[in-house]
Amino acid sequence: MHPLSDPKTPSFLPVSEHSDFPLQNIPFGVIERPDGIYVCASRIGDVAIDLNALQQLGYFDELELPEGLFVQEALNEFISLGRPVWRGVRQIIGALYAQGSKLEGNGKQREEIEWPIDQVEAVLPVLVGDYTDFYASREHATNVGSMFRDPDNALLPNWLHLPVGYHGRSSTIIESGMPVHRPHGQRKGPQDPAPVFGPSLKVDFELEMAFITGDGPVGYSSIPIARAEEHIFGLVLLNDWSARDIQQWEYVPLGPFLAKNFATSISPWIVTLDALAPFRTERPAQEDPSPLPYLQQDPAGANVDVHLEVSIAPEGHPETVVCVSNFKHMYWSMAQQLAHHSINGCLINAGDCMGSGTISGPDKGSFGSMLEITWNGKEPISLSDGSERSFIEDNDTVTMRGYCKKDGLRIGFGEVSATLKPALPWNPSSTSKN
Ligand code: CA
Repeated sequence: MHPLSDPKTPSFLPVSEHSDFPLQNIPFGVIERPDGIYVCASRIGDVAIDLNALQQLGYFDELELPEGLFVQEALNEFISLGRPVWRGVRQIIGALYAQGSKLEGNGKQREEIEWPIDQVEAVLPVLVGDYTDFYASREHATNVGSMFRDPDNALLPNWLHLPVGYHGRSSTIIESGMPVHRPHGQRKGPQDPAPVFGPSLKVDFELEMAFITGDGPVGYSSIPIARAEEHIFGLVLLNDWSARDIQQWEYVPLGPFLAKNFATSISPWIVTLDALAPFRTERPAQEDPSPLPYLQQDPAGANVDVHLEVSIAPEGHPETVVCVSNFKHMYWSMAQQLAHHSINGCLINAGDCMGSGTISGPDKGSFGSMLEITWNGKEPISLSDGSERSFIEDNDTVTMRGYCKKDGLRIGFGEVSATLKPALPWNPSSTSKN
């Protein structure tokens, strides 16, 4: 049996029981090494595995990979080689790092391959070409529709028939740890006589996961639902930073615009669908109405059971968990989203990022945004330092974590974290450097 097929096979590297990165995970990312060189990497416990070093040592020879594939600032070229290559690389790393492998006693080679995680920086793992954000949680769509429109008709007529989404902005997808500045914009409450300009007063997080795609198919113009997962490289945690006051004024009729594109933070390690296979679970039933045939899918195993948490830490204070949710609540699965996205012939490329939409569960403790948790600020929550929050305050750090756990096996995503900094000075007389 291959070591990755056995949830009990340990690595010879130390992995604590609370680690998200046992031998069975083998996620993919990009690290900046202490010498300033960027390489594609994986991670076991608290050790980053340099994929370029493995290639130079000949461990990937059987896969006949292009020279220099892993000396890159992004995983895109590797991702575009397709699923057989992703699987091959992951299996080779799994065999090399299983306890008792030949590599275990080869200190000289291990010195070239391994980097302590605190000596490297895990950076943005992909160059995102196109970013799409869905709206696939029924609970979230119902909550937002109730607040912004009408509680009796919270879901718009299309919602149960297709995975609603919009094209986002890839230029402001940022790595975990990079600070976010409170955005300026136009806002106008329903009772205000006219819009005003200034820093947003309602900066919020959105708890999401996102899948990173491989290249679209060769030989068929759209991705059939049964083959959609062949084109999904893996998943990350995503915080879709949102300015609710800007959003409420601008979003009719074309949807979110400047309220959403000032920052989108993602976690650095992309966890593959193969690593998540033991945690697949049923999707909510879709019987009233049934989707059209091109979106029909067996609900068994369509979703993934990922425990998710969001915390807020005011500057200099410990964090308070404000949301506990689960990725399994999504009404529309990833395969349905990708099949729908490409059904018109829209090209899907390696490194595209598809956000799930806010992942809210059925009860208040599982709502995935402050908008829902505090019901648009009407019911503020208390943090452990005694302060109250309706939305995110300057210098608060928002951290999202996610992991799967079953039968003693824990596979996780690490975290995506960012601090909200005060609005940058806005100077109308400043001139462009061009
Ligand atoms: Ca969103």
